[in-house]
Amino acid sequence: MNKAILLSTPHMSGKEQDYIQEAFDTNWIAPLGANVTEFERKIQQYTGAKAVCATSSGTAAIHLALRLLEVSPGDTVFCSSFTFIASANPIKYLGADVTFIDSEPETWNMSPQALERALADAKKENGLPKAVIIVHLYGQSAKMDELVAICESYGVPIIEDAAESMGSTYKGKQSGTFGDFGIFSFNGNKIITTSGGGALVAKDQKMIEKAVFLATQAKEEALHYQHEKIGYNYRMSNVLAGIGRAQMEVLDDRIKARQDNFRFYAGRWENIKEVEMMPELPNSVSNHWLSAVMLNLEKKDMTPYDVMEKMQALGVETRVLWKPLHLQPVFATAPFYEHIQGEEAVCERLFRKGLCLPSGSNLTQAELEYVGTALEMILKENQPTKYNKGGDAERETVNY
Ligand SMILES: *Cc1c(COP(=O)(O)O)cnc(C)c1O
Repeated sequence: MNKAILLSTPHMSGKEQDYIQEAFDTNWIAPLGANVTEFERKIQQYTGAKAVCATSSGTAAIHLALRLLEVSPGDTVFCSSFTFIASANPIKYLGADVTFIDSEPETWNMSPQALERALADAKKENGLPKAVIIVHLYGQSAKMDELVAICESYGVPIIEDAAESMGSTYKGKQSGTFGDFGIFSFNGNKIITTSGGGALVAKDQKMIEKAVFLATQAKEEALHYQHEKIGYNYRMSNVLAGIGRAQMEVLDDRIKARQDNFRFYAGRWENIKEVEMMPELPNSVSNHWLSAVMLNLEKKDMTPYDVMEKMQALGVETRVLWKPLHLQPVFATAPFYEHIQGEEAVCERLFRKGLCLPSGSNLTQAELEYVGTALEMILKENQPTKYNKGGDAERETVNY
């Protein structure tokens, strides 16, 4: 292989430049215009969401959702621990506190039983959270029936972080459309991209009108500049929305390619006992944004970091799974609820053992075969590198 095989790279269809040209031809080089409107309409149609607001990033969309739920200093928001930091950062932008919830082993996403325990405690202390942020990692839907029922019974709204799961379904329903709000990301590494961008979807049309208002500096209707609320500059550029318009047209192809990658790896390593593919929940369809595996390396005295380094030497980019947010120094004081009290947290185990593999929709068959062989060689070779960085839990898990 003469070029590195990367984890997840942008995959253009070729039609993006037509829509960008349209923005130039009409001189709508602004955070509004026909591409933004069309991109939003396509997301709305595809997902079946009630209404859509295209934003400058997925993080901005989460921030807007929290603002619309009136999260303010002193409030608490619950969030999956096993996720990218962007899921939780906007909670802190608003001065609120976060409580992290563990994963369960069947989806790697939020544990209903840990959530139930956390909500019961919060209720006892008269401190129910303003929202629960449920993440669907690597394209796999969380157990939405259970999670939605629990949140409803406590009357707590849901924000779905579907940044990684656009086009995935749970019992036939699109990821991001279960909660009061859902967010998508179109960052460069996501299943489709606008180079940078996001979208907020909501069940309530009025909420999206408010989101657009807040995302355009909360400018009131008046002949002068009138402001009665603090807003943001969070709308998507009409140039970038042109990329998104073309990307929406190939979303189904991109999903299929990534699902094929996962199936290739699963077939290839079926008989290798050290490799366990990410589980798939029956009745749900994952877009398989990233193909992730658990590596059982204890007998080999190796860690996923050893594998990552050896793969890198062979020209293959891999990455350990998300480091749980309750282990991040920046969230050191945040409470955490484990899936099963007294056992190692599920998300800590995943972090200790998991690895993401090259997963782009533009990988060739030869590249997939190469990745397959590379991992097999490394596992056979059986030599740890003694490289270990950040792999240990940095603090004790707190029992609640
Ligand atoms: C990418 C990502 C985000 C953030 O999206 P941006 O568009 O990069 O701001 C949020 N949550 C998760 C789980 C993500 O993977």
